[in-house]
Amino acid sequence: MSAKTRTTTGNAVTVIGLGPMGRALAAAFLKAGVATTVWNRTPGRDRELAAAGAVAATSPEEAVAANELIVVCVVDYDATDAILRRPEVTAALKGRTVVNLSADVPARAREAGEWAAEHGVRYLDGAIMVPTTVVGTPDGVFLYSGPAELYAEHKPVLDALDGGHTHLGEDIGRAAAFDIALLDIWWTSMTGYMHALAIARAEGISGRELAPFAQGIGKILPPSFDEAAIALDDGTHTAVINPMTSSASTMAHIIHASEAHGIDASIMRAVEGVTRRAIGLGHGDDDISRVAELLGRRA
Ligand code: NDP
Repeated sequence: MSAKTRTTTGNAVTVIGLGPMGRALAAAFLKAGVATTVWNRTPGRDRELAAAGAVAATSPEEAVAANELIVVCVVDYDATDAILRRPEVTAALKGRTVVNLSADVPARAREAGEWAAEHGVRYLDGAIMVPTTVVGTPDGVFLYSGPAELYAEHKPVLDALDGGHTHLGEDIGRAAAFDIALLDIWWTSMTGYMHALAIARAEGISGRELAPFAQGIGKILPPSFDEAAIALDDGTHTAVINPMTSSASTMAHIIHASEAHGIDASIMRAVEGVTRRAIGLGHGDDDISRVAELLGRRA
């Protein structure tokens, strides 16, 4: 029977988008015994999944018509729109549920939610906070926002992906907002590490030599994350370990050491700049958490 002629409810899903993440999602669904239909703009990316038992739809409207639950995972919301807003796809989506696990900004998620409501499409937004290799394992992290009832209805199928699934609230933009904030940590941390590796190399220290000590720095971060979060929420920025005057001095050392090697220190200059601004505003004795408050202030 072709995918076109049936609609499966219950333990079934359609996955649209077969980049590395879409393929990982579809593979995890299949492994968990969920009947899975797949479609991707560029043909051929469904080959391994079809061999593993997926139904390979020949068009997005056929993929959408196959199941009540449609998981979308493409590069961004321009790509999502390019697929879902084709008239024939929108028509096929009516009354079905889209869970959009593509990444984008909160405003796009809210706009997608409005579009879905206008077209009779039930809509949840979502974000995946782990790499493809972790999908289908207990360490997976999946975030969702949108109608709680809709989430509850589809959670049994989403749970087949294994890992932790969290509904963050009815505001459709919340999953994307968490995603942006968490990716901010990832990219600034990794860029800091790339900079550290460059300075170390200029000083004759190999990556392998530095890495075990970098792991040590990584272990200090989790309690510091919690302390800064509480300080920001409560508005109490008392420095327990390091006042900002001392932190700014360490930052200046990194800048000078980098620039002595001709290494671009613009990231650390930005960090030092905002720290010195906080000190200039009279917060020199405070913890670095004060910076979050200052950054969040509208000019
Ligand atoms: P990409 O972000 O590169 O997305 C590739 C997918 O997007 C392919 O299916 C591609 O189709 C599709 N696509 C791109 N442009 C269009 C378009 N104009 N019309 C239709 N389809 C389009 O790869 P991933 O699979 O890794 O990521 C998918 C999403 O998951 C992204 O939003 C990403 O941020 C998120 N994510 C990824 C993680 C990862 O580890 N990879 C981790 C966490 C989240 P085609 O094959 O035809 O080009």
